[in-house]
Amino acid sequence: MRISVIGCGYLGAVHATCMAQLGHDVVGIDVDAAKVAALAAARPPFFEPGLGELLESTLATGRLRFSTDIADAADAEVHFIAVGTPQLAGSDAADLSYVRAAIYSLVPVLAPGALVVGKSTVPVGTAAMLSHVIQPTGARLAWNPEFLREGFAISDTVSPDRIVYGVAPGDALAEAQLDEVYAGALAVGTPKVVTDYATAELVKVSANAFLATKISFINAMAEIAEATGADVTQLADAIGHDARIGRRFLNAGLGFGGGCLPKDIRAFMARAEELEVDQALTFLRSVDAINLRRRDRMVDLAREAVGGSLAGKRAAVLGLAFKPNSDDVRDSPALDVAARLVAAGASVRATDPKAIETARLRHPELHYVEDWTDAVRGADVVLVLTEWDDYRRLDPDAVGSVVTRRAIVDGRNCLDPVQWREAGWHYRALGRPPAVGAEHPGAVQPEAERGAEREADHVRGDVVRQQ
Ligand code: NAD
Repeated sequence: MRISVIGCGYLGAVHATCMAQLGHDVVGIDVDAAKVAALAAARPPFFEPGLGELLESTLATGRLRFSTDIADAADAEVHFIAVGTPQLAGSDAADLSYVRAAIYSLVPVLAPGALVVGKSTVPVGTAAMLSHVIQPTGARLAWNPEFLREGFAISDTVSPDRIVYGVAPGDALAEAQLDEVYAGALAVGTPKVVTDYATAELVKVSANAFLATKISFINAMAEIAEATGADVTQLADAIGHDARIGRRFLNAGLGFGGGCLPKDIRAFMARAEELEVDQALTFLRSVDAINLRRRDRMVDLAREAVGGSLAGKRAAVLGLAFKPNSDDVRDSPALDVAARLVAAGASVRATDPKAIETARLRHPELHYVEDWTDAVRGADVVLVLTEWDDYRRLDPDAVGSVVTRRAIVDGRNCLDPVQWREAGWHYRALGRPPAVGAEHPGAVQPEAERGAEREADHVRGDVVRQQ
């Protein structure tokens, strides 16, 4: 099929490349000329494993082009909209201006019979509104939410776990056109769900709301574990064995971030408020709050590790991306913690295998180093904030030989506490006890001790009364 993809960021560039690799004739359109030039030269403007190689081989077939000129999309039969829908400044709602701009730029070149397919994540009701803009051209609109994960974007695009089409009532042609686009995935039995617009839009945001809730649930358990001396990682393993619960997305740690989950749950709440059903989603407010509280806790653990004040202390930050195998630092908990450490007076040296340049754009004030060995040299405390394999595999003795103080805070529960403690490290992690058998604030005292304390209180009370 002849396909255009409008918006070539993390989603669109991968989608365009994969569609061409599957045999379609694709043009990727973006307003960012530098991005278009980089993609056309097989240089991915962001890090996604395998994308560089795939771009190169696919561009060589002649089936993939990139352009800034929307007129180059004119002869496509299917137009995917993959522009951003970030959080509006000063509001929880989604900024739909890019989606509107993309649709309005496309309208003059749309051929009758063409299908415009929304991929961007939008508030429910957006497709119905946009379909009126497209209708006069004789083209039609469908919504086909995208579920790819950064870091696995290529395999998720080529082999999705499900395909959802939201189509206008009675638009059988839209389903047929999309079936042709996704013929490969459908041929191997990928489940397909055909819905109306509203359901398709809601599928995406409710899936993200569920995933965010699952992460915040285990992080809430981490808070309880911290108050009681329990170990949240064992708790997650134990409850995860229940097939109804499942172990995935139950990793307690610094919480979720990135260009999707945080802004999507906020936009969902904002839309529910407009629809006067905000009560249905009040729990998402807690999900968001739990997620953000983990960052405070991380800074507290670092402060504790250096003896009470971060002022003048050297902190090594390992990891800036919101997750491994990505350079995406949008709403990254790791980058936020790095900035908070600086605000608390620490001297921070931060590193990441792929995200230094994207982080620098947002936080130029941080001191970045290319290599983790430069980050940890002379450090009073080491913080692991993104669970890259490089950091999971760190050798406690090798790191220990260059730091000032053997203190580490594991923000992703990705290191082995036994191994680090045996090497003489002060090891702390979110949701885990300070050390085996350590005292904790929530310990229930033995009755005998409590009796003795009550006795002492009486005596103190008597003394106070007598004074
Ligand atoms: P992004 O910011 O990386 O990419 C958006 C691109 O659109 C940019 O390159 C920008 O220059 C371009 N653009 C903006 N206005 C344009 C216009 N009028 N015409 C042409 N191009 C234009 O964002 P992203 O992460 O790719 O996300 C895009 C959408 O996909 C969002 O709605 C997001 O929620 C959704 N989504 C993203 C992912 C993901 O993992 N990144 C996964 C699923 C869904």
